[in-house]
Amino acid sequence: RAEVLASAPDGDATLTDGERILVLANIGNPSDAPTAKKKGAEGVGLFRTEFLFLDRQDAPTIDEQTEAYATVLKTFDEGAKVVFRTLDAGADKPLAFANLGAEENPALGRRGLRLSQVRTDLIDAQLEALAKAAEQTGRDPYVMAPMVATKAEAEWFSSRARAAGIKTVGIMVEVPSTALRSSQVLEPVDFASIGTNDLTQYAMAADRLQGELAELLTPWQPAVIQLVKATCDGAGERLIGVCGEAAGDPLLALVLVGVGIRSLSMAAGKITAVKAALSRHNLEQCRRIADAALAACSPEEARTAALKLADPSV
Ligand code: PEP
Ligand code: MG
Repeated sequence: RAEVLASAPDGDATLTDGERILVLANIGNPSDAPTAKKKGAEGVGLFRTEFLFLDRQDAPTIDEQTEAYATVLKTFDEGAKVVFRTLDAGADKPLAFANLGAEENPALGRRGLRLSQVRTDLIDAQLEALAKAAEQTGRDPYVMAPMVATKAEAEWFSSRARAAGIKTVGIMVEVPSTALRSSQVLEPVDFASIGTNDLTQYAMAADRLQGELAELLTPWQPAVIQLVKATCDGAGERLIGVCGEAAGDPLLALVLVGVGIRSLSMAAGKITAVKAALSRHNLEQCRRIADAALAACSPEEARTAALKLADPSV
């Protein structure tokens, strides 16, 4: 049956009306890539490159980085979407070789792209390594920056990445200002990926590391879903993905597709269930499910409303 085929590990994720949704994996190490592929990932929606930088005394060399990036690119088929996120360190993930000092509020401090803007040597070396990996493998990596809050920052990253030879440039949407102003902020880039972990933290003003705040931190918060929709509404033709944990929840994945997301990246273990859920709905159903979640007044209500409209198998 079509549904069974669509949810097979190496199958495409296709809605019942034929709409294609990319289902990708989040990885933190090149050695995760083959496993992700085996579990049905069509590519990588988020390669957290921090593993190369954390817990060491010196920055990784360009050769060392090139090898790691090329390994991931080669794992997937030609034309696959493989997204590299540039260094997302700083603040609570301090680097021995780029310590900007203690901060009162690390999550609101000089992290992500803000660190890259201070240590241009680090970002330039990383972009050079990514361009070299592209040349070596003949593949076209997607390269995005974390924690972009303004159009000026998107422009800064885009021109630097393109100058280094990167062809497909994007940003993460994980700061509410970027979600709300996506038509302006995304203007300098080709694609975007929404990081719902940080987007939820910043929308709800709730520290994502604080377990007691779990109720506030669920991506089922209608405000978070609305920010995802705002991002898609202003994105024009650009491919917008979600790479936060929200994408791995089969029911929430339907909501995300309903507001305009066409690429979902998740922990590899979640892929089969998400593909199965997608393969049982069409776009119109996803839109209705999303509308119901958006009309809700709480995360619980949003989830219950979505569940009522979804196929009973989800
Ligand atoms: C996110 O913020 O949702 C995200 C995917 O990035 P990280 O969890 O690495 O901050
Ligand atoms: Mg993040």
